[in-house]
Amino acid sequence: MPKVLVLPGDGIGLEITPEAVKVLEAVLKGRPTQLSFEYGLIGGAAIDAAGKALPDETLAAAKAADAVLMGSVGGPKWDNLPAPQRPELGGLLPIRKGLGLFANIRPIKMLPMLVDSSTLRTEVVENVDLVVLRELTGGLYFGEKGRGTNPKSAFDTLVYTEEEIRRIVELGFQMASKRRGRLCSVDKANVLESSRFWREITIEVAKGFPEVELSHMYVDNAAMQLVRWPAQFDVIVTENMFGDILTDLASMLLGSIGMIPSASLNGSKGLYEPSHGSAPDIAGQNIANPLATILSGALMLRYSFGLEEEAQMIERAVERVLQEGYRTPDLAKPGDTVLGTREMGNAVVEALK
Ligand code: NAD
Repeated sequence: MPKVLVLPGDGIGLEITPEAVKVLEAVLKGRPTQLSFEYGLIGGAAIDAAGKALPDETLAAAKAADAVLMGSVGGPKWDNLPAPQRPELGGLLPIRKGLGLFANIRPIKMLPMLVDSSTLRTEVVENVDLVVLRELTGGLYFGEKGRGTNPKSAFDTLVYTEEEIRRIVELGFQMASKRRGRLCSVDKANVLESSRFWREITIEVAKGFPEVELSHMYVDNAAMQLVRWPAQFDVIVTENMFGDILTDLASMLLGSIGMIPSASLNGSKGLYEPSHGSAPDIAGQNIANPLATILSGALMLRYSFGLEEEAQMIERAVERVLQEGYRTPDLAKPGDTVLGTREMGNAVVEALK
């Protein structure tokens, strides 16, 4: 039986991951493929219990598992630890690196019943259907960083190798060729040498994909265009930090970051987590939106286990629940039925029936 390692992490991670597991168990009930769920520690919870944000046993269990389902890590309690010990730098980044998860896929597709939840006008957001492909194990987050002493200073380094660029860009072309055939590579090639290199490699890779229309966009313009006319985008491929920032921005096209799932892949090996963080401001109140995590579970079925039908069943169940007017508080408008985190998970399970 395929094994899934569940890492709830911190904050709302503890509330949203059980809802995703509940939905996965419900959708697979009576079907040929069953999953076994094991649990582990990561982030602040792991620091408290084991003195380290990514305990060796967690990384070993993640490597041994067929897929990982994660909540989110971090919180004010651990913010002042020295950099390498913090939940993000000591837990999140090392698990991505340790599993070689270089490709982070974040689909952002407007659903008709969410058009009114966006802070942008209907005609701007109604046709949004894009994917951000974020490079996840290189770039600014992984380069050498530190503090100088004379004069007092701090530095982070943005390094990309040809191989790192080539593999993510190739995946971008493959994805675009299966969708609407348009790939936008986002960089800052007017200023950064690493971006000029990224662009050179991208143009070279493009020769193998004549069916895909390639465009290049500076990241500052991309941020503006995502708000001005997001429907122009099909697949966006970009550097680690640019992708981090642009996907938070793009999540608001749908009205809440609580709607955006993600898959971090290295072949069929994958870690699945919502695009948002641990939301300490709402943790423990049963008000977090679990749908990004539930939809990340659907991505797991699709990408790690090839269970396309079951993945779509979850996606349709989520749509049905929203169609019926159920919303967690982050998305609710007057007239909607407001549900808590657990109740939203239950509603998706019901809708599967
Ligand atoms: P965040 O994404 O946790 O929260 C930003 C805002 O969005 C908050 O107001 C929060 O309440 C809201 N929000 C987020 N998810 C929501 C959900 N599912 N339902 C309803 N509202 C939701 O980002 P932040 O506040 O910048 O970071 C909080 C902590 O999370 C920090 O420690 C940060 O480092 C960490 N973080 C972790 C990850 C990860 O584990 N992958 C990603 C981003 C941030």
